[in-house]
Amino acid sequence: MQKREQLYKGKAKSVYLTDDADRLVIHYRNDTSAFDGQRIEQLDRKGEVNNKFSAFIMQKLEAAGVPTHFETLLSKDESLVKRLEMIPVECVVRNIAAGSLCKRLGVQEGMDLNPPTFEFFLKNDALHDPMVNEYHIRSFGWADDAAIARMKELSFKVNDVLIKLFRDAGMLLVDYKLEFGRFHGQILLGDEFSPDGCRLWDVETRKKLDKDRFRQGLGGVVEAYEEVAHRLGVEL
Ligand code: 5GP
Repeated sequence: MQKREQLYKGKAKSVYLTDDADRLVIHYRNDTSAFDGQRIEQLDRKGEVNNKFSAFIMQKLEAAGVPTHFETLLSKDESLVKRLEMIPVECVVRNIAAGSLCKRLGVQEGMDLNPPTFEFFLKNDALHDPMVNEYHIRSFGWADDAAIARMKELSFKVNDVLIKLFRDAGMLLVDYKLEFGRFHGQILLGDEFSPDGCRLWDVETRKKLDKDRFRQGLGGVVEAYEEVAHRLGVEL
């Protein structure tokens, strides 16, 4: 598939048109951002690790019955995906309290959330991705009842699959963010699944193995991502 002009440049990925109107190429860059893009650094190998990591997870999810946009790896840092019409909300599932939940509700990091909780956020850096609810999503026409229900259903299905996958590799899936889009009338999982958009802790030591290492200046960011990949058996 021929890569054509750039359609969109995000904080960590660039998206290119192809000669098929229904297919896009995603290029995973080494750029790493935090705090709504206010801090950006280049981290060696990150694009490659996230590309291969996300491909691995998307294939596991697809096999478990979660439809995704992923088609195939094209190179070390590029993947071919279906072109979705993105729904501009982020779906966050949390199994353990961390991050913005602790700040907002004043709860201790590490508290088990049973049952897991679910939140919608508007994808808008200028507004700092504010939390929104289903009424906002319907009133502003971002998605209807059926699409909202499907995003929640698929988000929890992802949880069932990935809690076990990470647990078997000695990690706790603390929380994660998903984005969905429409493809010929179907809702598919889009964007990426990588340690940039989830929290993973070592099950014994609770060492952070995700982007919080970057956000909190803990160092060893890509090394941690590579460790997660190795534990899962992702070929890098
Ligand atoms: P929090 O709301 O605690 O900041 O984030 C919850 C989870 O969603 C974390 O795993 C975090 O990495 C992910 N997340 C939330 N918003 C974003 C975002 O804008 N970009 C990325 N990459 N991940 C996000």
